[in-house]
Amino acid sequence: MERQLNEKCAVVGIFNHPEASKLAYFSLHSLQHRGQEACGISSSDGKKLHTIKDRGLVSQVFNDEKLKTLSGTSAIGHNRYSTAGDDSILDAQPVFACYDLGEMAIVHNGNLTNAQEVRQKLIKKGAIFQTFMDTENLIHLIAKSEEDKLLDRIIDAVKKIEGAYSLVFLSRKKMFAMRDPHGLRPLSIGKIGDGYIVASETCAFDLVGATYVRDVQPGELIIFEKGKKLQSIQVYEPTPKHCIFEYVYFARPDSDVFGKNVYQMRKNMGVELSKIEPIEADMIVPVPDGGIPAALGYSQASGIPFEMGIMRNHYIGRTFIEPTQEMRDLKVKMKLSPLNSLIEGKKLIVVDDSIVRGTTSKRIVRMLKEAGASEVHMRVSSPPTTDPCYYGIDTPDKENLLAANMSNAEMCEYIGADSLAYLTHDSLLKSVDSQNDEYCTACFTGKYLF
Ligand code: AMP
Ligand code: SF4
Repeated sequence: MERQLNEKCAVVGIFNHPEASKLAYFSLHSLQHRGQEACGISSSDGKKLHTIKDRGLVSQVFNDEKLKTLSGTSAIGHNRYSTAGDDSILDAQPVFACYDLGEMAIVHNGNLTNAQEVRQKLIKKGAIFQTFMDTENLIHLIAKSEEDKLLDRIIDAVKKIEGAYSLVFLSRKKMFAMRDPHGLRPLSIGKIGDGYIVASETCAFDLVGATYVRDVQPGELIIFEKGKKLQSIQVYEPTPKHCIFEYVYFARPDSDVFGKNVYQMRKNMGVELSKIEPIEADMIVPVPDGGIPAALGYSQASGIPFEMGIMRNHYIGRTFIEPTQEMRDLKVKMKLSPLNSLIEGKKLIVVDDSIVRGTTSKRIVRMLKEAGASEVHMRVSSPPTTDPCYYGIDTPDKENLLAANMSNAEMCEYIGADSLAYLTHDSLLKSVDSQNDEYCTACFTGKYLF
């Protein structure tokens, strides 16, 4: 049990709606960017839970027939992000279990930092694990708790875990949603008909026609029970430290995350970036899709025209997920191509949201120069990524992070650019209007929360 999995995913929950599993399906579809490896839905018909999960995209795993078997008025769902080499169907969610109080399913977005410790203790006491997922710990903690009611058992269980978690639990009659005390991962509540929806991002609400109510607060447990108002228990004192990388890269631009619109935050980052090492250029070219809002902000602030000098082929997956360097190089080539006639002889400012291993930037600079660009100046709308994330975003080990191992000049030479500049830590915080030190920025500073 040495292998450690990070859960960087999407969760949804639908409560008290006649089309619960269909709404869960559509919500997962809108959250596909948060995980493409596997997905699953568990529904409850009041007497029994039904679960379908498999590897693949939401549209590949589910069809009308399958959704019909997921009967009932409540459902929870999950998209799983892939981690190199981990593709077991056992690692798909929801995690389902029968225990002394009945049946239960759980979905989790985040990463438990004390998962190994808790698991070893449980194993010593005789627990048998079927997967490598942190989330399975919760099933055992709930099943073993000496409290009588599920609600108290959930509280008991979450008091034994540490790390980043946005969780949704489904029992036969109730649904529960809980966020860790720092609120590292997002989780919002919406209203739909007579029921409720919870989802990692509000773009799911827009798709299914739900109205945003509020976020689950850091450290808060929400109880959904038929015929009753939402009940809230503040299990932990909230100490907000939201993941700033949700704004930089991970969340969809049309979502409001941590109460703010992601597109607007990215545009602000572009405005701030335009103030750092400003230069004259013929055009601002975004690396699609991640760099587009920041490049627009940069262009509007600097007056340099915005042009789509790089085209993206949308019909292949993300490059980041391939385990070998060779495969990653090939996928970047397949994914992005230059608009030769536009960029020939031009001095370009190229904007991307982040540099991780440097594969994308190196390839893009080479590609643009081969296409005839006279100069390529790389600008990054986040600070150098110097440290891995332990709270639920898939980043490589420190030794593979470009900025952890090279100076700015070395990185610039490595990617072959004429200049390279990043957003500073302070400018990033300014872009997202940080007021009370309420963001985690550990992957840019190495200052971890725990
Ligand atoms: P790299 O090629 O390794 O430097 O990765 C940088 C590219 O991957 C950028 O274009 C980002 O938009 C994108 N990216 C950054 N973080 C992640 C992540 N956690 N998962 C997938 N892609 C990412
Ligand atoms: Fe987000 Fe970075 Fe903190 Fe991880 S380390 S939670 S990616 S800000």
